[in-house]
Amino acid sequence: LTSKRTSIEQLQKSLPVYNCRQRILKELELNDTVLIMSETGSGKTTQIPQFLLQAGYAKNGVIGITQPRRVAAITVARRVAQELSGNIGDTVGYTVRFEDCTSKNTKIRFVTDGVLLRESIRDRLLLKYSVIILDEAHERTVNADLLFGIVKDAQKERRKQRLANLKVVVTSATMDIDHFGKYFNCKGMYLEGRTYPVRVMHAKEEHEDYVHTVLVTLFHIHRTTPRNHDVLIFLTGQEEIESLAHQIRQLAKIDMTGTTDLRVFTLYAQLSQGKQLECFLPTPVNVRKVILATNIAETSITIPGIRCVIDCGFVKEKSYNTSDGLDVLKSVRVSRAQAWQRSGRAGRDADGTCYRAYTKKEMDSFTDATQPEILRTNPTSMVLQLLALDIDCNNFDFLDAPLEEGLRSAYKSLDALGAIKSGSVSHITPLGRQMVQYPLDPKYSKLLLTASSFGCMEEILSLVSVLSSDHVFVSNSDKNEIATLAHAKFQSKHGDHLTLLNVFNAFSKTEKPKMWSHDNYLNLRSLTYARNVRRQLAEISERLNLAFNSSDDIEMIKKCILNGFFENIAVLQRDGFYLTVSGNIRAKIHPSSVLHGKYKPSYILFTEIVQTEQTFLRQVTEISFEWITEIVPFVKNIPSR
Ligand code: ADP
Ligand code: MG
Repeated sequence: LTSKRTSIEQLQKSLPVYNCRQRILKELELNDTVLIMSETGSGKTTQIPQFLLQAGYAKNGVIGITQPRRVAAITVARRVAQELSGNIGDTVGYTVRFEDCTSKNTKIRFVTDGVLLRESIRDRLLLKYSVIILDEAHERTVNADLLFGIVKDAQKERRKQRLANLKVVVTSATMDIDHFGKYFNCKGMYLEGRTYPVRVMHAKEEHEDYVHTVLVTLFHIHRTTPRNHDVLIFLTGQEEIESLAHQIRQLAKIDMTGTTDLRVFTLYAQLSQGKQLECFLPTPVNVRKVILATNIAETSITIPGIRCVIDCGFVKEKSYNTSDGLDVLKSVRVSRAQAWQRSGRAGRDADGTCYRAYTKKEMDSFTDATQPEILRTNPTSMVLQLLALDIDCNNFDFLDAPLEEGLRSAYKSLDALGAIKSGSVSHITPLGRQMVQYPLDPKYSKLLLTASSFGCMEEILSLVSVLSSDHVFVSNSDKNEIATLAHAKFQSKHGDHLTLLNVFNAFSKTEKPKMWSHDNYLNLRSLTYARNVRRQLAEISERLNLAFNSSDDIEMIKKCILNGFFENIAVLQRDGFYLTVSGNIRAKIHPSSVLHGKYKPSYILFTEIVQTEQTFLRQVTEISFEWITEIVPFVKNIPSR
């Protein structure tokens, strides 16, 4: 144990932020806000909170650190707890959506930006905190952007009311220091990083199939470099990652006669926490670790041992069309800043190599930096959050203000959802205030808040919970007939929402969840997660005094879903495609749907739009034209059949 301590201390002292400790503390003493910029891995996230703790900043309040993602909040909290030789949840803790691992002893608290934002609704001055570190500011998530303004406002208000000052530290790996400096009215500190040289190799010619390029490159690396050089591969999303992981595992077996000298890990947001954490574990010296990850591994987390990076050059991003307000998930080119971030991941521990699956010329056409999320996603949820804080968007101090047109469509949606007074842009309704009590998109909150009036609260609670948890069905890239057969018994002819509800209900009844999930090719972790979510949503609903009724009337359940998802209606066309009512997007039913390849209902509602080479509607349910006119009469221009 002593030697472990010494080695941790040695590591801490070797980090670039260590030498700047005094400078950082001095700056923060003199100023309320400090901007710190330095390379990934220099110790910002794990060390700065400890400096502040040791300097006494936690005497009259908690040191809060925001992270853009759950996995980052959890892993860094654990790491800091370990560095302080404590248990997680004691001095150091974390709170992420649906999970709180803190206690009254907690001094350093890692939270996702969504969690802090929701806290600010109850406590606008953020009185619990003495310092807030807005970490990974360059990620520019909508929630982080809102927090910038909220934290600035809390500082001002606390000064005005002569309360203890709120200190703010903004840190980032690649931040536009001028832009942030002007906004926060402070100087930036640039800390020299400590990285090793990374050799960058581009594809010699353009490739259509980047997944194939990635695969070939990986085996080239595997043949030509020592086994302890671990590989990090950037891909776009879950399906791509799982399918490539499967291929690699198969090929590794054929290539290497029995013994595994290559272990594949996957890392993406929808993966359960436990699975996400597996890739941080070391592998034996003669076994190469290969991690297939989304951009989740780009900055906030540190995976030791990576010497090679393969960058596919794409990223899955939510983007939307301001006129119709529908978010579409699609793969787009990374920005040049992202490409450099990715290659930097190879030079953390020693010299490294980055292989880019695109040519130098292709890279010239990439944009310089990724657009902030606030400029490219549907602002409905954000507008409602601000209204709950009694802030009118038009008066909010945005770092980058969202587009007028997008705001207009957000107000339209909120009006239709009943969250704001009709025709108003500043009056939130009691229903709207209730909506923000749930950590959910307003559509889903609406379902929960109206479910009692449809007589199906219990069912909607289950449904929303299971929708919050992804990949309930276990499948692999082989068409597995046994799995298909096992899943068939849950199938509802009405569509995916009721199918998922059937799965969840059956799961809730079983006494042996582990065996049952295994036998039915279902993901135990996802279902357990959904059950946890359900408990918490039920607690909130109870606080709101909603009636817990239950119904097996499928029509009522479907009508209830429609009353929240009226923007997600699509109508069958003569050519077999569906046309979405908002946005006129032509799409097909996603292959994972129970309705795929079967009879095509004239009207459906869907959970999301996914764009790969084709455009798909994921999770669909049949509805009828009459219900649209009955439940959501304000939805216009729908042809009757
Ligand atoms: P930054 O926030 O500047 O990117 P971090 O504070 O996250 O840097 O990490 C600093 C260093 O701490 C890393 O370079 C790595 O050496 C070490 N480290 C961080 N997290 C872990 C972890 N989970 N396991 C092992 N080492 C870690
Ligand atoms: Mg960090």
